[in-house]
Amino acid sequence: MKPYVTHLECSLTGERYSAGEVHGLSGAGRPLLVRYDLDAVRESAGFDEMLARSGGFWQFAELLPMAGDGLDLGEVITPIVPLSGLHRGGELLMKDEGRLPTGSFKARGLGVAVAMARELGLTHLAMPTNGNAGAALAAYCARAGLNATVFCPADTPEINIRETAMLGAEVFRVDGLINDCGRIVGEQAAERGWFDLSTLKEPYRIEGKKTMGLELAGQLDGALPDAIFYPTGGGTGLIGMWKAFQELMALGWLKGQRRPGDAVPMPKMFAIQADGCAPIVRAFEAGEEHAPAWENAHTVAAGIRVPVAVGDFLILRAVRASGGAALAVSDRTILEARREIASRTGNLVCPEGAATYAGWQRALDEGLVNSGDRVVLFNCATGLKYPLEDSSERWD
Ligand SMILES: *Cc1c(COP(=O)(O)O)cnc(C)c1O
Repeated sequence: MKPYVTHLECSLTGERYSAGEVHGLSGAGRPLLVRYDLDAVRESAGFDEMLARSGGFWQFAELLPMAGDGLDLGEVITPIVPLSGLHRGGELLMKDEGRLPTGSFKARGLGVAVAMARELGLTHLAMPTNGNAGAALAAYCARAGLNATVFCPADTPEINIRETAMLGAEVFRVDGLINDCGRIVGEQAAERGWFDLSTLKEPYRIEGKKTMGLELAGQLDGALPDAIFYPTGGGTGLIGMWKAFQELMALGWLKGQRRPGDAVPMPKMFAIQADGCAPIVRAFEAGEEHAPAWENAHTVAAGIRVPVAVGDFLILRAVRASGGAALAVSDRTILEARREIASRTGNLVCPEGAATYAGWQRALDEGLVNSGDRVVLFNCATGLKYPLEDSSERWD
């Protein structure tokens, strides 16, 4: 069939690029966004028809860039779990992305990016990672028969490094942070014949992450929540969800729309970062459009230890346009939140997921959300991939 892709577009200048070719960043050095013929999509399939399919996020085929099939690793629609014990009025929901292949939502972005890389004839993909992205890249490359090379900070959680290597990728530890790893990929790619799959430096990971927004809308019968709390590193997921909501609005598939394009209230988007690495929060508070690199980045939430984001302005625009905010939380509150969620609700979340709960509490205290709101937190990875404290006792 398809694809329904019409062209790619520079997210900063709007310059057009043709689909069906290998692309990295735009000429302006900014992310490329995939544009679809949404009228044709609407005529070919309804939202209900897509939602009735199996195959997890691949069910949104018409809104994905591939011409052919996805790469099946048993993807599922991730559940929305009510955090009943913790809410204070309203509704506190958690979309649990830990159920995806390799245990994190990186499966979405990399599943689609690797499927596209295969279609475009690329054979060797390389990437910097804080852990989960590398594992997802390795898994989908193994499935697709492509080679993968990954660079990670030396202190990346050990389980991620070994998992990625076992899935067949070549893994290098680097004394530095993810942007240092990214620099190595950028410098070496041409000479070594790698394609650089870094966050937002190619157009398709964002399309995969977009499915979080499509899926969420589907699960809530088209009624978007009042607020979304997203642990923000490179921001692909937040940018992707925002894109999903715009596409759904243009398609006329959201609740309360009488016609395609009718405006409906959008969720407030909250970008949550750790206070040891909060470039987006700093730029948000300063009213800036771009976020300079954060020095000496550190946090227990490895997935959001991202000192500089090439899509910074897209994150900030979405957060501002939605009436949300960028908020920083401390490692101490992250770890407390993790313990509280686990012991009071039975969900073992990752530190990044716990950060969204801490962020929601702050937003509530500061009056940025109301206690009666319907709120969705994103737990992006299974808690089992992260170090756990030992609080057992010896029986003598
Ligand atoms: C990658 C990652 C994030 C950050 O996601 P972005 O969309 O790149 O901002 C958050 N949490 C976990 C567990 C991750 O692996």
